[in-house]
Amino acid sequence: MIQTAFLGDVVLTTPLLQALRDRFPAAYLAVLVIPGTREILSGHSGLDEVLVYDKKGRDRGLRGIRLIVRLLDEKRFDCCLLPHRSFRSALLAFAAGIPMRIGFVQSLGCLLYSRRVWRDPSRHEVCRNLQLLGPLTPDRSLDRAVPTEKLWVSSDTEDPEWASRYLAEHGIHPNDRVIAIAPGSVWATKRWAPDGFAAVIDGLIVQNKRKVVLLGSHDDRPVVDEILKRCREKPVDLSGKTTLRQFAAVLKRCELLITNDNGAMHVGVAQNIPVVAIFGSTTLSLGYGPFTDRAEVVERSLGCRPCGKHGYSECPLGHFNCMKLITPEQVMTAVERMIQAPPQGL
Ligand code: SF4
Repeated sequence: MIQTAFLGDVVLTTPLLQALRDRFPAAYLAVLVIPGTREILSGHSGLDEVLVYDKKGRDRGLRGIRLIVRLLDEKRFDCCLLPHRSFRSALLAFAAGIPMRIGFVQSLGCLLYSRRVWRDPSRHEVCRNLQLLGPLTPDRSLDRAVPTEKLWVSSDTEDPEWASRYLAEHGIHPNDRVIAIAPGSVWATKRWAPDGFAAVIDGLIVQNKRKVVLLGSHDDRPVVDEILKRCREKPVDLSGKTTLRQFAAVLKRCELLITNDNGAMHVGVAQNIPVVAIFGSTTLSLGYGPFTDRAEVVERSLGCRPCGKHGYSECPLGHFNCMKLITPEQVMTAVERMIQAPPQGL
């Protein structure tokens, strides 16, 4: 399988990996990903190997494409699934001579596939990805509205006690109830306001007696700094300080995740914690919502939503009401509902 997209896309591909392993237990299964998402897949029971394509670094340009084509060719794969719809992914599989190349009709390189599958825009991305198995199996269970396969991420740190010790070093103890906040996103129109997050953090700490951890990558630092400047109560700031697996391990310890529509949201779902997701310029209709029934989406009903598949660096209409109209009270109401809901399985 080739999936060289971002973290969230990779996590949304893990049910397909599981379905592949369940249906072809003896097959040698490998996935090609970018360096940034490699660790989150290590240890997946559906995988024999994780290959890395550093398309923006070591393997950039034509030389890199040649290297990866040679690598894929040497492995003599019989089949390649292409959930990632880029032309480059299609080219890699085609040039490597993989006989069966299954991808979506709507992909840029679909003419380079040997089998094309309709990508149903009305379904969740997890279900759309599972449809790629269609040419390999007559299994009608792929059409189920809610597949049995779950999202998965690796949180195996070198030490199983790592998260507890790490949080203790930051003043969070085993009996503390912890809520995580992931306020970042690559796209500005998918980021809720720092004022809003700061008000929610203060409320969680003072009224709800929770500890709060801020999570994110290095790239999220400017956003996190803006939030910290506005907080009266100080959360524990772990953004940019953890690896992806450590990030997942910390999430596993949390009671709830409050997040924008971003990769962290899918990692939280994979860690089976409840999620409050704040949606701005995107909507659930695009098929990338939290893949769980333990989530609540906070959003405003506006005619301009969704204004794009991903997001923008600024609101195309200038008012940014999709996020500006979301209040801390709205988010806190969703949080209260989620933390009062009985744990799954009761
Ligand atoms: S156009 Fe509408 S949905 Fe898009 S960013 Fe602006 S307010 Fe949000």
